[in-house]
Amino acid sequence: MGRIPSVVLNSGWSIPLVGMGTATYPIPTPDLVEESIIHAIELGYRHFDSASIYQSEKPLGQAISEALRRNLVSSRDELFITSKLACADSQPDLVLPALHKSLQALGLQYLDLYLIHFPGRVKCEKGLIFTKEDVLPFDMKGTWEAMEECHRLGLAKSIGVSNFTCKKMALLLAHSNISPAVNQVEMHPLWQQKKLRDFCEEKGIHVSAYSPLGGYGALWGSNLVLESEELKQIAQAKGKSVAQVCLRWVFEQGVSLLPKSFNKERMKENLEIFDWPLSEEELQKISLLPQQRLSRAETFVTPKGQYKSLEDLWDGEI
Ligand code: NAP
Repeated sequence: MGRIPSVVLNSGWSIPLVGMGTATYPIPTPDLVEESIIHAIELGYRHFDSASIYQSEKPLGQAISEALRRNLVSSRDELFITSKLACADSQPDLVLPALHKSLQALGLQYLDLYLIHFPGRVKCEKGLIFTKEDVLPFDMKGTWEAMEECHRLGLAKSIGVSNFTCKKMALLLAHSNISPAVNQVEMHPLWQQKKLRDFCEEKGIHVSAYSPLGGYGALWGSNLVLESEELKQIAQAKGKSVAQVCLRWVFEQGVSLLPKSFNKERMKENLEIFDWPLSEEELQKISLLPQQRLSRAETFVTPKGQYKSLEDLWDGEI
């Protein structure tokens, strides 16, 4: 398996263009997560996307130690590790303690990328679940200042955001001393994020695609992407899987992608996307697919809260 290509972020650090997602629900046993990550490192994955709410930090850290012990990588610096600030910690004074907790769970001295997980705050989150009653106002400016401090302290080489719309990115940029390096958002052929990608490109912010296969799972996403008849036709004609067509399409848009699989065959399949292109005609067909956001985070919408409707939450990008 060849090396995974990377691009340089506005922070000066490189990000590998394919990373392995580690979120799944119900939350699997730590052993399964650790074994899957070790196998992924054997296959050539070097970028791992974690978050405190996924409960994958500890097994990821154990997998990194084991990979070093087995000489699968010669140093931690060969890996690109992302984690995210939970909404329950999204207030200025909780950011640094939350990052310390993540680093401790991972057994690492620094993160390659630390992201504000969502432009929202909640009282508490238990195992990826919270209710509308838990939703609190989110202080974007203060929270970002605390993220900047994490970067200055050398605890996060790059900092960024996730689930931010163009409007929220513009607000953040107006108040930031350090520009976010990355905006990690839902992106796949059925939610192509053209407007956001153009905005981020103009501002020098890298886009990372989560749920590049549609995120089929119990809590978020849907099987609409992998079940799309149009994508099936393209895949069949090309002798590729639907998943590979999706991942190749995302890759060709110049963004990084974070497919999650804990299945050995599918982990391998998801890396086999670099040596064949989609044709102009196939790209044209994909560009015409009807669009819909699959992960809408409706729990953040409350009548008296910051976001009174889905339109508010996603600033019309829905
Ligand atoms: P995804 O990667 O789009 O899809 C995952 C699903 O597709 C799983 O059911 C997986 O099952 C299956 N799958 C993987 N490869 C496949 C293949 N080649 N063929 C058929 N099925 C395949 O969804 P996701 O987990 O939502 O997104 C990926 C990562 O993005 C997450 O793990 C997480 O790290 C990140 N994420 C971030 C946010 C955020 O708010 N920032 C939100 C969602 C996700 P198997 O494991 O059985 O293969």
